Amino acid sequence: MSYKRSLRYGMSGFLIASMVCMQGCLWSSSKRTTSLDINSALQKDTIVPLLIIGSGPAGLTAGIYGIRGMVKTVIIQGTEPGGLLTKTTEIENWPGEGKILGPTLINQMRDHAEKLGVEFLADTVTSIDLSQWPYTVRTEEGLTIHALSIILATGATPRMLGVPGEQDYFHGKGVSTCAVCDAPFTKGEEVLVVGGGDSAIEESIQLAPYAKNVTLLVRKESMRAAPRMQERLKQYPNISVRYNIAIEKVEGNEERMTGVQAINTKTNEQETIPATRLFLAIGHDPNSQLVKGSLAMDEQGYVETVGKTQVTSVSGVFAAGEVEDNHYRQAIVAAGRGAGAALDALAFLSDVGFNPTIAASMKLFTVQVTKKKDLINLKSMQDFNERAREGFVVLDFYTNTCPSCLQMIPTVEAVAANYDQKVEFFKVDADEAVDLVKKFFVYKVPALVVLHNGKLVARYNDVMNKQELTDFVEQFLQKSH
Ligand code: NDP
Repeated sequence: MSYKRSLRYGMSGFLIASMVCMQGCLWSSSKRTTSLDINSALQKDTIVPLLIIGSGPAGLTAGIYGIRGMVKTVIIQGTEPGGLLTKTTEIENWPGEGKILGPTLINQMRDHAEKLGVEFLADTVTSIDLSQWPYTVRTEEGLTIHALSIILATGATPRMLGVPGEQDYFHGKGVSTCAVCDAPFTKGEEVLVVGGGDSAIEESIQLAPYAKNVTLLVRKESMRAAPRMQERLKQYPNISVRYNIAIEKVEGNEERMTGVQAINTKTNEQETIPATRLFLAIGHDPNSQLVKGSLAMDEQGYVETVGKTQVTSVSGVFAAGEVEDNHYRQAIVAAGRGAGAALDALAFLSDVGFNPTIAASMKLFTVQVTKKKDLINLKSMQDFNERAREGFVVLDFYTNTCPSCLQMIPTVEAVAANYDQKVEFFKVDADEAVDLVKKFFVYKVPALVVLHNGKLVARYNDVMNKQELTDFVEQFLQKSH
């Protein structure tokens, strides 16, 4: 591919984006790159030839193709390492695998990429500046990286209902977007799932073995989920489906949700449906906020790509997976798009004159191995009594099926290394240490429980980055003085 072709991509991106804009898109002006002079990269430090943002099937496949193209490839993992696939259970539609668990598949992909030499950065991007090439990417941990090419594979985030009470009872008080994470904590409970797609069915099935009853609330008179998926519901006697029901409010007693206020969309009759859990499975929104205003997007925020490529409206920036695919939204498609994005990025790098000789004279970025403390895994109350000292103890409750928990553990390990003498950190597998879960009222994971001389003094029910966790630790240490 010639450099001219690369520019043509940019131009066709511009034309397509302009045409889409005429139809009312959010994108207003194409930020064309002014200079793609490879010599400008020699003046910069922390250069990454291929930077991939996101570590789901699209990002990991892009990584495999990038590194096999003999280009240094770094993946910034983001807030949900592994992406949405880690929230599913059995997958039957991955060619060559009759049945495989989502988290197993994603771990295999990551191992594959790592073995080939892809570097993983456990960090989250806070800003992307595409006004000058090489592009500048900043992270939550304070890093500044200069990227010659970027693949945006940031996926999508579960949508919220936007009704009163939903936010009040989120984070451990009943409302959740991750059935696979929280299912083990719903034992004997009345559980609601809202949605009518494949995800709503999958979540109901994940909950059925634990909950007393699962009621699936569908706002229309039919579901859009695949007939084969709808058929699967019949195998679970404790799952029932109610049609034409829309949730208007989540109610509770401040500590926990107690039910939802709902309306029958046909009769307009209102009712309160008692439940202690509500799982949201109403679709996803693309994670494209980082490039809003700098890349062409449609009105829903999906990044526009050009023709049958993964090229975006800015030269050297590519998009793959659910951040740009509003149509198929399948892991296998995301992986394919990731491969395409990497091939496009390799062609771009070659066009701008990047090669092994010039790479040798660049100040390349290398992922630093962070200091960490391996956490002891507490398996029971007895374990806790034998191991925990007096003073401050932090228990990090997790389960192996919870993606945000698996993201939290390395953060806790890194922060624990800085408080070795002052605070003792343990991890607790919530599936196994049932007595500890009961004792410390853990309703969802991840959950951090802080004890001082055996007394519960603080808790936190969500993911934190290193800085947030450090601030959290400093706060409870200061309170004790
Ligand atoms: P979908 O976009 O397919 O479905 C969203 C559902 O939520 C729709 O039924 C929609 O209702 C409903 N909904 C949206 N907003 C509201 C609201 N405010 N109140 C009540 N209901 C609402 O999303 P999914 O996450 O289910 O699926 C996304 C993609 O992932 C699909 O392509 C799906 O096939 C795929 N997938 C595949 C799986 C598999 O193969 N095993 C598993 C899970 C997902 P309405 O229909 O009325 O618009």
